[in-house]
Amino acid sequence: MALKQQTSSRDTKSNALDCDLVIVGGGIVGATLASALKDSGLKILIVEANPLEVVASRRQAYALSLLSGRIYEGIGVWQNILPKIAKFRNIRLSDGEYPQIVKFNRTELDTEFLGYVAEHKVVLTALQELIAQCPNITWLCPAKVIEVESQNTFSEIKINLNGTTKTIKTKLIIGADGSRSRIRSLAGIKTRGWKYWQSCVAFTIKHTAPQNDIAFEKFWSTGPMGILPLPGNRCQIVWTHPHAEAKAIQQLNEQEFLEKLNYYTGGLLGEIELISDRAVFPVQLMQCDRYVQSRIALVGDAAHCCHPVGGQGLNLGIRDAAALAQILQQAHQQSEDIGELQVLKRYENWRKRENLTILGFTDFLDRTFSNSFLPIVVIRRFGLWLMNNCQPLKIFALKLMTGLKGRTPQLAQR
Ligand SMILES: Cc1cc2nc3c(=O)[nH]c(=O)nc-3n(C[C@H](O)[C@H](O)[C@H](O)COP(=O)(O)OP(=O)(O)OC[C@H]3O[C@@H](n4cnc5c(N)ncnc54)[C@H](O)[C@@H]3O)c2cc1C
Repeated sequence: MALKQQTSSRDTKSNALDCDLVIVGGGIVGATLASALKDSGLKILIVEANPLEVVASRRQAYALSLLSGRIYEGIGVWQNILPKIAKFRNIRLSDGEYPQIVKFNRTELDTEFLGYVAEHKVVLTALQELIAQCPNITWLCPAKVIEVESQNTFSEIKINLNGTTKTIKTKLIIGADGSRSRIRSLAGIKTRGWKYWQSCVAFTIKHTAPQNDIAFEKFWSTGPMGILPLPGNRCQIVWTHPHAEAKAIQQLNEQEFLEKLNYYTGGLLGEIELISDRAVFPVQLMQCDRYVQSRIALVGDAAHCCHPVGGQGLNLGIRDAAALAQILQQAHQQSEDIGELQVLKRYENWRKRENLTILGFTDFLDRTFSNSFLPIVVIRRFGLWLMNNCQPLKIFALKLMTGLKGRTPQLAQR
């Protein structure tokens, strides 16, 4: 179903709006956007397909960048998140069994940590609690989007809320509804990209290794393996393999699985115990042709997706949310129409190119390391040597990974 773009006499009724903006999708990115607009004076509705407890209960953990932490500090929710998450001071990159390991330490950026690892529930619950105290933000859930219709000066979104059809009139609709965004498809926004030949197996383990402040990215020719520390001597592991191998790893019996894992982690975690399911996710790279059109904007996975190597996807979405909140708040203060294309373009101009850099960076990492072609192996090992011996290159890579490259949203500067 295509987005209906119409100009009609109904435009004259545009002052009778139900709200200023509707955010479709109450995952971490949608909830971050709403929270970042808590003091904007804008009236916000969040349409979420699932009940709030269900949305918060996803069993996943993410590497959160320094910038994401600063954004949450600016929003005023960090103090409720920080005590419940892991902080790491070191990052180690290695190439199979090759002994040259790139070691990053917090002192190189002069920061207390190099990043954090947070469980989905911790972040989303903190955001939901904050939103519950904001009189300008209302949840509509469980609710599904049926149709979107844009006029010149407003949009209408038809939803099914608890079995009842409801039409909401608003200035702006934001798609924060994930990689299979309905808002994106209703708006007819095209995407570019590709599906990788790999899937990720994601799971949590308990271990006996004493040191738990290192994040590892171990590159194997089958695909990268991210080992992220979690509180309570646990780790979230995201292990990439070609699709069939990922499925086979998921189905191994537990003992065989742990033996294989022990080999691939190099025994660095001591004794290990599997404490979650092994979930398999296919991996894709995707960027929308445009992030905005009149009365529509996309954020997070609705606008772009990348390979999980380096743990960047959610961080990009959090940064989108902070940037869009800033643009909308400024436009509102200057009495501009927040749904107008010229306002929304400021967001697209800011974020689209920055996201593309990270999409390219993660693609480059995956392709060069998931490769046993000898000339590529030689070049990438020289790259690792260079990274260890050329401090400016190391700092550049570190700033890219921690979100400290690019334009900083004002929220993160507070
Ligand atoms: C294995 C794996 C590991 C990862 N690790 C990391 C990491 O370490 N660090 C990192 O930064 N990123 C990581 N990512 C990426 C990260 O998971 C995503 O980028 C992030 O979850 C996207 O958040 P989102 O809020 O945009 O979308 P989603 O989390 O998909 O949320 C979308 C929300 O919209 C709702 N919704 C969907 N359709 C509708 C509709 N029609 N109407 C109403 N509501 C709707 C859904 O219920 C959901 O609540 C990883 C991804 C994978 C697969």
